[in-house]
Formats: sequence, C-alpha cells, structure tokens
Amino acid sequence: MNSKILRILPALFFLFYVTNTTSAPPHWNYDDPAAWWAIVDPAHPAPLSYPYAECGVGQHQSPVDLAAAKFSSKPLNQLAIIYGADTVTFYNSGHAVQVNTSNDYSGVLKVGEETLPLIQFHFHEPSEHVVGGRHFPAEVHFVHINEDGRIAVVAVAIELGEENTAFQTVLDNTPVVGRESNADTGIQIDPVEFLPKQDHDNLEYYTLAGSLTTPPCREGVQWYLLADPITISEAQLEQFKGFYTNNVRFVQDLNGRSILFNK
Ligand SMILES: [Zn+2]
Repeated sequence: MNSKILRILPALFFLFYVTNTTSAPPHWNYDDPAAWWAIVDPAHPAPLSYPYAECGVGQHQSPVDLAAAKFSSKPLNQLAIIYGADTVTFYNSGHAVQVNTSNDYSGVLKVGEETLPLIQFHFHEPSEHVVGGRHFPAEVHFVHINEDGRIAVVAVAIELGEENTAFQTVLDNTPVVGRESNADTGIQIDPVEFLPKQDHDNLEYYTLAGSLTTPPCREGVQWYLLADPITISEAQLEQFKGFYTNNVRFVQDLNGRSILFNK
C-alpha cells in the first residue's frame, strides 16, 4: 500500500465504511434529496439504521446560496493550488462523472500552511451553489483529503462559452454505466485545465464550513468557491447531460454561518 493511501486512510474509511463492511450502503438518488435522512439501512439496528441522518439534522450543510457573502474584515488564509498532469482514472460514480487521481499523484491544495492532496474531482449539472437563487449551467468539485481526514473542496462554477479540451477528454472516456471505471487509458489530464485563469498561488475565493452534498452529508468540510467561472461549450453541456442531469442537492440554510470573501 503506498504512502498516499496510508495518509488518507482514515478519511477513506469514513467515506466508504459501509461499503467495506458487511453490507452495501443503502441506495440513494436525486429524486428526493429532502428525504435522504430518512433512508433506512435494514442491516443495522437503530440509530445505525439511519446512516444518512446528518443530511436532515445537520446545521452546517451544503450547498448554499452565496448571495449572503461578505468581505472578511480579518485576513483569510492564502489559497494556492498546485496541480499537474496525472494518469487519471475516469469513473462513473452512479451519481456523477468523476475523475480519480492516481495513487502517486502529487497535486495539492494549500490553505495557509496546510497541504491537502487532490483525491478526485467530479461534475454537477446544473451548479449546486447558487448566487441569489441563480444556478450556473454546471459546477466542478475538487475533493482534497489530508492525513487527518480533513476534507476541503474547491468548487468552480461552469458557464457556457469556449470549449474545454480537457473536459472533452473526460466526456469521451467516462464509462456510460454507473459504478464503472476506465483506468487503463494511459491518458494524462492536468486538473489545472478546470481552473479559472487567475493567479493559482493566491486565489480569489468565498469560504464557509459545510458538508458533503451527497449522503452521508458529513459535516466538517471546508468549502472554497472560486470567484471566477470556467467555460465549456453548449455541445459539451449536451453531451454531459447524457450522463447525469440535475444531480444537484437543493440549497441549505446557513443557520448563522458566515460566507467570507477574501478579496
Ligand atoms: Zn460534488
């Protein structure tokens, strides 16, 4: 087992514990996200019979509406992204088009002095985060997990415009069938191709404490929403919709949380 896997093992256990124990996690889908908390796992006694309870009782849930964001009066951590080309695995998670980084990938997010490796990135249609109730056509989430199991997600809004060549590679290599992966293409992708063209050593962002936007809706996820969008073409959005459409959780209450803006 390589060092990256060892470092992120606690988080992987958390994220996939049900899969790796006696029974598969109960099925969920996007038909009724408001009822995720009530999905019952008959293989376990109460309260473990409600593995997605946090989706209902959590007070720091994601996604949110960014309209309430305010400029931070105190300086926030400098946010830097250092990615690079990787021989990736194209994965259809059953809920999203996803790209998994290789075990020896060295791409990271730096939040102040903290470094979090990039584990995977995936796409939602339309966006999960909204601004004043307005969705973007799509959104990409970069999921970083450090050795302590801390999760930081960088989100980038996707607008329609110029075609994204790397996104075309993702679309053309992702399996059509859910829960299948395409690991042996040898194709290299640099996730930086999905970032806006600004200074990646000192990114402009909104941040707040939130959760995974899919069951089990685990909290303690720090979100960094980049201020600038990227673009894909209209034809790419149409091809993308052939995989999943409306794979989006509804906007959650802030419950007193602040959304801070760093510039
Ligand atoms: Zn996501």
